[in-house]
Amino acid sequence: MRTILVIEDELKIVHIIKAYLEKEGFQVIAVTDGAAGLNAIETRHPDLIILDLMLPLIPGETILTKLRQTSEIPVLILSAKCSEEERIFGLNIGADDYLIKPFSPRELVARVHAHLRRFKAVNAQHSTARSYNQNRLTIDEIKHEVNVGSNPINLTPTEFKIINILSQTPGQVFSRSQLVEQVQGYSFDGYDRTIDSHIKNLRQKIEQNPNEPLYILTVYGIGYKFGGVPD
Ligand code: CA
Repeated sequence: MRTILVIEDELKIVHIIKAYLEKEGFQVIAVTDGAAGLNAIETRHPDLIILDLMLPLIPGETILTKLRQTSEIPVLILSAKCSEEERIFGLNIGADDYLIKPFSPRELVARVHAHLRRFKAVNAQHSTARSYNQNRLTIDEIKHEVNVGSNPINLTPTEFKIINILSQTPGQVFSRSQLVEQVQGYSFDGYDRTIDSHIKNLRQKIEQNPNEPLYILTVYGIGYKFGGVPD
């Protein structure tokens, strides 16, 4: 499910936007001040942001400028500031779109869809990464990078090989000896506990709850399989 973050202090507008977007199947997170907005960006990893400018605590312009230092996710400004200068300023500091209040909720929804489509297409062109569970986990074979949400994860070369091999064929069960063979490059006819300790470390690094893993699943008596869902 795609997550839309709405940073808006007028509750009436929040309710309208939430109702329209939820009807389209989006998950909507709404916060009513700028500080909560910055916090939600970091902790909730939204796919798109609808941003008011005149906000308590931290203005929308500051949020956008800060966001653009690290992220290219689509941002739609929704503001009562309607002069040409204000609109140009908003676009220049990194907004993808600028809607003026009062606005048409249906047009807003259409623009949200359009920006998500475009962002996905551009990303697909530039990225060599595979992504799973709505971008919660990405694995880049070429750059040897693994990200959980937007956080880069430090893996040892062996850990990277294991997650890379497992994730190439989600659902396929690998025995421990198959994994040893693929990771270390020699065949092994036995029960190798070192794989288990690599798996344990991997889970600590990439699973939200290593005791109830989502990505690296144990298949009892056989080995392991990847439980992530490709995007
Ligand atoms: Ca406002």
